[in-house]
Amino acid sequence: MIKVVKFGGSSLADANQFQKVANIIKSDTSRRYVVASAPGKRNPHDEKVTDLLLQCYKLAKDKRDIAPTFEKIENRYRDIIRDLRMDYSMEDEFAGIKTALLHHASSDYIASRGEYLNAKLLAHYLELPFIDAEDCIYFDEKGQWDAEETNRELEELLGMHEYAVIPGFYGVNPDGSIRTFSRGGSDITGSIVAAGANADIYENWTDVSGMLMADPRVVENPRPIAEITYKELRELSYMGASVMHEDAIFPVRKAQIPINIRNTNDPAAPGTMIVPKAKSNTVDTVITGVAGKKGITAIHVEKEMMNSEVGFGKKVLEVLENYNVSFEHLPSGIDTMSVLVANKAIEEFKGAITADMVKKVNPDSITLVENLALIAIVGRGMVNTEGTAARVFKALAEANVNVRMIDQGSSEQNIIVAVDQKNYATSINAIYHEFVK
Ligand code: ASP
Repeated sequence: MIKVVKFGGSSLADANQFQKVANIIKSDTSRRYVVASAPGKRNPHDEKVTDLLLQCYKLAKDKRDIAPTFEKIENRYRDIIRDLRMDYSMEDEFAGIKTALLHHASSDYIASRGEYLNAKLLAHYLELPFIDAEDCIYFDEKGQWDAEETNRELEELLGMHEYAVIPGFYGVNPDGSIRTFSRGGSDITGSIVAAGANADIYENWTDVSGMLMADPRVVENPRPIAEITYKELRELSYMGASVMHEDAIFPVRKAQIPINIRNTNDPAAPGTMIVPKAKSNTVDTVITGVAGKKGITAIHVEKEMMNSEVGFGKKVLEVLENYNVSFEHLPSGIDTMSVLVANKAIEEFKGAITADMVKKVNPDSITLVENLALIAIVGRGMVNTEGTAARVFKALAEANVNVRMIDQGSSEQNIIVAVDQKNYATSINAIYHEFVK
């Protein structure tokens, strides 16, 4: 059994957290490859090391003094070393990064140093080998992650090490320079290493006990999700539910490796299992989760006999394409077609887009309804259960919410409704409580 374990920034924010991480790793010998983030926030008012590094990069670029900000970074590591009573010094490393900052190193290189230093420190603390991500995570000429090259190198390197600590968040370009993933990208490294190690499981350790059925800022104390499929996760994260970097799913999904979201501060909790195929399609709640996003505009286009006009939809979408606007959903009726887009995406060109649509398809009417919210009710259990849609609409009606639009995905694993944005929280609560008693 091989487990790849990734610890997020809050899991490695200080000495106390380092101790928890060490206990977790040592309690299970199959936890062989450890991917580390940079130290995150120790409390809500704290600063992440990655943010501080990027501040230093900007200061150096503007030829301003980096010393006070850089010292904050140094002190984060020094404090951990001191509090763990380690006989270890990172002063040479600090000096090297400081010199790089003053000699115009790239922002990716600078941002990556948080993970580099933290993984080195963790490797030393755990007495495990350190493998640098620049020696095994490759990007291609276009800046895309190079799966083939990476897997080849990882296989070789991991084959030589039974255990290792690897920094998250970055890899190397073909020219040897450092490139980072987008923010939160250590999740991606963890997934890549899990795939490269052919792991049985990818454990992603964070500061929550897995995914919740709804956003805890909207629903009070929502239930955790024990098991969720990759597909359901994709639908919920598209709607804004997040536990991990979105791109972290792909490497393990391809290799069919399950992900277990775990809580460093509550290691006894089983967390959420994200699996290719669920053990059972009967979920006791029928739905797996409910999530939503605000800030949606619906463009309703109406024209009699629209359905017999070949290429009508294409022309409407072409107008959006010309303004580089992507659409979120496309519910249609007999003589109506609605295109749902983000408010932000069309804000600037509302007038021009409607005018162009009038020119292109000569509709009977075209109306814009702004400030809608989309709500997705997601669950594999819906396929085998009758009356789910009826329950959703009953719950919304009882909460006095007017449903502006409905869309059911062909997978039958989701129902999407549009409501006025002001009804967002009421709707999510009404749906959640209809299914979770
Ligand atoms: N340290 C990086 C960030 O703050 C990457 C990560 O933590 O996943 O975005």
